Amino acid sequence: MNKFPFHHALLALIFTAPLVAQPPRLTIVLVVDQLASHFFMKPSAYFKGAFKQLLQNGIVYEQANFPHGMPSTATGHAALSTGTYAHNHGIIGNYWYNKEGTKKLNCYLDSPEDAALFIPGGLSTDRGYSCKNLLVDGISDQYMIASKNNDRSVYSFSLKSRASMGMGNHRGKNIWFDTKTGRMTSSKAFFGALPAWLNQFNTTHPVAAHQDISWQLMYSPSSKQYRFDHARDDRFGAFSEHIQKRHITLTPKPGEAEEKYAEAHKWFEVVPAENQYVLDCAYTGIRNELPHNKHMLVWISLSGIDKLGHRVGSHNIALIDMLYKLDMQLKTFMSSIKKLLKKKESVAYVLTGDHGAMPLPQLLAIDGYPAKRLNSDEVRAATNEQLKEKFGIEDLVKAYKTPQFFLDEPKFGALSLEEQRTISHEITQFLKSVPGIRHAWTFDELNSTTYPTHSFEEHLKQQLYPGLSGRITVQTHPYVLMTDYHLGTGHKTPYNYDTQVPLIIHRRNVLEKKHIKSKVWTTQLAATLASILEVPRPSAATFGMLPEIAQG
Ligand SMILES: [Zn+2]
Repeated sequence: MNKFPFHHALLALIFTAPLVAQPPRLTIVLVVDQLASHFFMKPSAYFKGAFKQLLQNGIVYEQANFPHGMPSTATGHAALSTGTYAHNHGIIGNYWYNKEGTKKLNCYLDSPEDAALFIPGGLSTDRGYSCKNLLVDGISDQYMIASKNNDRSVYSFSLKSRASMGMGNHRGKNIWFDTKTGRMTSSKAFFGALPAWLNQFNTTHPVAAHQDISWQLMYSPSSKQYRFDHARDDRFGAFSEHIQKRHITLTPKPGEAEEKYAEAHKWFEVVPAENQYVLDCAYTGIRNELPHNKHMLVWISLSGIDKLGHRVGSHNIALIDMLYKLDMQLKTFMSSIKKLLKKKESVAYVLTGDHGAMPLPQLLAIDGYPAKRLNSDEVRAATNEQLKEKFGIEDLVKAYKTPQFFLDEPKFGALSLEEQRTISHEITQFLKSVPGIRHAWTFDELNSTTYPTHSFEEHLKQQLYPGLSGRITVQTHPYVLMTDYHLGTGHKTPYNYDTQVPLIIHRRNVLEKKHIKSKVWTTQLAATLASILEVPRPSAATFGMLPEIAQG
């Protein structure tokens, strides 16, 4: 018989009650670009490193989706930090077009006068980047606003400028890779001068050292770790030869054009060494900055999976191998981070993606899915042909950026309102008749109609912005890839393969060991981080906290 039932009950209570947790000393949000859930979970039984540890010990949201109709890198990263739709934060895509529909404008572009890029020896006179077009504050801004006596900082690292700035927001120290100069850098919008450790990192980590982009698979090619359907089918990937056999020199020869240099750096983006490079840079930053800060929030976006995934698709052995390598690279990174902290200091980790991706449609078609490629150039030409025939107007549809068509706005604006209406209607009717296209809307039609919350239509609508979006938005049927590329794949539809990503939060003894099966939105991360970090939510955060997250 138990003599001390009360005592035991009390002990049980003490040991199961959540610990009253202070905000973590260090919070690291890892965003793996194009980490589709279907791709991440398939080989997950073979994870041995950070992914295994996070899946076992973290709070795992098994059904996390971006509420995005046209998922993209810039929009995904901005959504994670601001907790709202692109319609509110303004970053509707990686780029948009000028009025004539002839020139792409980077979403984080600013003038060199206000936001010059740091280049070796000084500042760029022709390139500037800032968060000017990010119309709201994010969790990184709130974190800095809550700073007392400069006791904290936010750092954001990525190969892509649009990922780095989307996470670090206006007030973070945003660092990215410049393909033209082959260095990790930033702009005057975020630094008075680049930190000494970053300059040193660029000296000690020359990208030119990675002259050979071939890599060894982690396991024997015939091992079970790669035994998935189509893993070796290279017919529809955007490489004429297999990635592992490719060799390229990243150092330009004297006299070679800058473009060649930039082109070579693009190859560096598709190898596992690139993920390591960004992790090394982030580690260098944390090691140097943590001693000067009471608290730090660090964002790291890793682009290798996306850059390679677009080319070879999620079935491919090279991409699966890159994931295994990342699992181990992150494990090493996390144990190095642990050594920077005192025993009682804690680190919180988040792992997620910015969007998913469609597997290569040709491979899906082999498996019996109603999958196919739809050539957007051909659709655009046919639409223009139809307009010419019916209205005598030429070359009105200028560009296609999945899933939107951009018109020659000056030409369109010169038409009467009645003509504009008639022609827009003709365009959408024509597009709806194209096999593979489910729906087509004009901007006004999509923007002014009320749709059920979290319907595909609503997600498409929430990613519109007047003056920036294309005039015509198209929704394809699932597994239809509408693009002007003949090979490779993309991620611009509202369907699960493009929107669902892993979402895991882990802080030892505080946020751990739960699997949540109900559907959540990745945009809930901002409010959740606000709670963990004990700072106000971003001003425009429309999504609330993730479930099961209360800590002490
Ligand atoms: Zn992408």
